[in-house]
Amino acid sequence: MSKPARPAPLVVASTNQAKIAELIELLGDRFSIESRPTDLADTVEDGETLEANAAKKAREVAAHTGMWTLADDTGLFVGPLAGRPGVHTARYAGPGATDADNVAKLLDELAGVADRQAEFRTVIALALPDGVVHLAEGAVVGRIAERAVGGGGFGYDPVFVPDEGDGRTFAEMGSVDKGRISHRGRALRAMLELIDRLEPRP
Ligand code: IMP
Repeated sequence: MSKPARPAPLVVASTNQAKIAELIELLGDRFSIESRPTDLADTVEDGETLEANAAKKAREVAAHTGMWTLADDTGLFVGPLAGRPGVHTARYAGPGATDADNVAKLLDELAGVADRQAEFRTVIALALPDGVVHLAEGAVVGRIAERAVGGGGFGYDPVFVPDEGDGRTFAEMGSVDKGRISHRGRALRAMLELIDRLEPRP
């Protein structure tokens, strides 16, 4: 099967500029990335799983734009918290929580806890305008640091230390180093392999 024409337009169903920058870095030479249209209401992420939320976000935007659309949903699964915040990672510290609020709550809940094992999981959905959805996933295992370190990245990056790294948090790594081992980098590479197996676009 032949590969899709490139660079092909691809909508990323996100308004998070830090995330879009990461995606452009990982996909930019294959696709011309467009961000989520601003006239489209936010998707209500009420699924019970990362898969359900990623598929819903991608499908809504693909139906609106008529274009191939990627959406990701990420969860942080913390061992000593029995897998919380998991699918609720974005709103861990409550509705409208900022990254700083979420990080502060996590450090608070883990204060004095020796076991700090955690895993990031990302599911990426590719929705085609006809409603067909393809899914790919990626994960990275690490631990939650005792305090926030580093000024890069976003979300929980300042407190996540990947096991495969050199002791730095994701927020201390550049996006290239992070993307090599991160949940999103892995999910994207799996998605790219899947795209290579799809028929070319009409
Ligand atoms: P979402 O699925 O992108 O909405 O992300 C869910 C939550 O995980 C949000 O609180 C994000 O800030 C956080 N998050 C997503 N990806 C990353 C990452 O690569 N590093 C750190 N936090 C992340």
